[in-house]
Amino acid sequence: MESQKKHPRVFSFEFFPPKTDEGAATLRTTRQRLEKLNPAYFSVTFGAGGSTQDRTFETVVDIQRQSSAEAAPHLSCIDSSRERLKEMILAYREEGVKYIVALRGDRPSGSGSGGEGDFRYANELVEFIREITGDHFTIEVGAYPEFHPEAPGAFADIDNFVRKVNAGADSAITQFFYNAQAYYRFVEDCEKRGVDIPIIPGIMPLMNFEQQARFSEACKADIPRWLAKRMEGMKDDPQGRLEYGIDVITNLCEELLDAGAPGIHFYALNKAPVVERIWHNLGLSQETGGEQRRPEDIELPT
Ligand code: FAD
Repeated sequence: MESQKKHPRVFSFEFFPPKTDEGAATLRTTRQRLEKLNPAYFSVTFGAGGSTQDRTFETVVDIQRQSSAEAAPHLSCIDSSRERLKEMILAYREEGVKYIVALRGDRPSGSGSGGEGDFRYANELVEFIREITGDHFTIEVGAYPEFHPEAPGAFADIDNFVRKVNAGADSAITQFFYNAQAYYRFVEDCEKRGVDIPIIPGIMPLMNFEQQARFSEACKADIPRWLAKRMEGMKDDPQGRLEYGIDVITNLCEELLDAGAPGIHFYALNKAPVVERIWHNLGLSQETGGEQRRPEDIELPT
């Protein structure tokens, strides 16, 4: 973990583009609450295959123009042409956006790879962004402590991750995980290959366990048996589950930060209270200069 300790810590939140006016209003409220914490940026996901691409752009522009935090659009290349990607990248630069999360992407159908686009893998997109915009953007890429499900093996996946770093990525955000050892081992394997960019843990708070279990199944990120059993055992006690999940995630973040993780990227799922509780449990506002509150003063959804 030595390579990670030298980096300034970065704290960020991830949103998805809302589909309805009601969803847009919820996101606006969430963003206004979370920007008080002074995160480095809000990232916004992007649906490969066209489903949410315009909404991603609109949400990013909204954040960039109206929020005190930076916006970080996700951009995936799986089904896109060089021309279309160039148009989007330049439009973001025009809006003053400074970050891009560069991904291969997954199709909404879950059919995974093999897109019709000009690029096959994220390393090619990173190279392309560098080619057309030089050092303008801070480029984030995805990392998989439990390995990407399509990789032929753990070491091949690490080699492919290194390829993205060599293509010009500045920093990485991991897929979510609940097992800190997976992250430490991944970072150490990357260090052995000379990687020293920040690899920021992506942390998914436990807000809705059934939904979380579906996400985990889809992206093959493990929910440890003890955690799943606990959550199943509290099925009829939603409040207890929420509190327990906050405790587990607070401990996980604490452990990672103590070990030298260079920040946390919270998968906020467009909701504020649970991530705010975790944030204040960790006292992160002392570091970011954000608003400080007592965790118990944040009301949880019932
Ligand atoms: P890549 O790095 O291209 O890797 C994909 C697979 O190909 C891996 O198995 C890798 O080992 C292999 N590979 C890579 N390069 C090569 C190569 N040159 N030769 C052979 N094999 C190679 N998806 C979305 O659709 N929208 C989002 O907004 C989104 N946001 C995400 C945010 C984060 C932080 C993360 C971690 C994931 C996100 N995803 C998103 C999911 C992501 O798109 C999928 O996990 C996708 O399957 C892989 O994307 P990647 O950029 O990691 O791909």
